[in-house]
Amino acid sequence: MSILTLQNVNKKYDKAHEFAINNVSFDVKEGEILALVGESGSGKTTLLRLIAGLEHPDSGLISLSGQVIVEGKRSVPAHERQVGMVFQDYALFPHLDILDNIKFGLKGSKQEVDQKARETLKLVGLKEDFTKYPHQLSGGQQQRVALARAIAPNPKILLMDEPFSNLDAMLKDQIREEIRQIIKKAGITAIFVTHDTKDALSTADRIAILHKGFLQQIDIPKVLYEVPVNPYVANFFGKRNEIMAIPTEEGYHTSFGFITDPEAKKHKGKIKLIFRPEHGEVVQRDGQQLSGKLVKTSYFGSHQMVKLADDEGKRVTIRTNPGRSFDGMDRACFYLWKYDVEEAF
Ligand code: ADP
Ligand code: MG
Repeated sequence: MSILTLQNVNKKYDKAHEFAINNVSFDVKEGEILALVGESGSGKTTLLRLIAGLEHPDSGLISLSGQVIVEGKRSVPAHERQVGMVFQDYALFPHLDILDNIKFGLKGSKQEVDQKARETLKLVGLKEDFTKYPHQLSGGQQQRVALARAIAPNPKILLMDEPFSNLDAMLKDQIREEIRQIIKKAGITAIFVTHDTKDALSTADRIAILHKGFLQQIDIPKVLYEVPVNPYVANFFGKRNEIMAIPTEEGYHTSFGFITDPEAKKHKGKIKLIFRPEHGEVVQRDGQQLSGKLVKTSYFGSHQMVKLADDEGKRVTIRTNPGRSFDGMDRACFYLWKYDVEEAF
């Protein structure tokens, strides 16, 4: 069941030349975590603000929980939409302590509000003294307070703008996973914006990718990564290598050597083989399918990236395990266990 629906939503800011959001349509299912990705200026924040009611679209329809909240000039005001929002800078009230930050948006008797605020702070894993002020907390703790404040009033959907961008790398992996678990445990539907593909791939149930205000693709992480609908999406999710190839009955001739593949005979003329660094593997012995001049190795702790060149200097990058040594080698062999074929014109 979808809880949020956008149909042909367009938004152009006053005095802007181009639309910030172009004819965007998609659904979010109940309980789902959707990541909204795209480079800076692609319209991610605008899309969240349109859903939250902080901006009004030029045209299109938005419905939430079966209720139309935007259609033409009509719209339900932001404060009546029951949308929870976590802003990039958390936007906590600096003059209120943690507990009062959460209580701020809650309705009910004094006792109910107090109980709900305490429950929610526990839910997000805050064991701090609730009389502390935001500036006395770490970035991770402030984020939990912001999350608690957004979810305490039981919103129909939670929107988070770049929730992980202010956290340092060490904390980020841990907090990202914890936040995912909190949201899942509470059964909340959420959309979070990120420009980090790692955040999106590891945390979201589905990912929507925007480019210049156009929705490029929306699907589960594996499909976006493995079956991108266009080169923009493919390249957004990491480096891809492209090499030219000539198909024969038995395989492909390339400038790095011959690849045996009976599927090759289905193709004619020049084609491109496209593969990600992790779709290849470097092998020690010669006599393997492909080889190249060793140009550079870069060590990343969890893996190494190896750049290899053909006789003309065309390079490919292959990912390999961090323990492999290339000392004294000027060439290396590799094979590809996966590649896509694209017609080259
Ligand atoms: P993102 O969050 O993906 O970085 P935004 O939604 O902030 O993208 O911006 C999308 C486009 O709309 C950009 O071209 C940006 O310059 C423009 N834009 C954003 N906010 C405003 C505004 N208040 N007034 C005019 N243009 C804006
Ligand atoms: Mg933004």
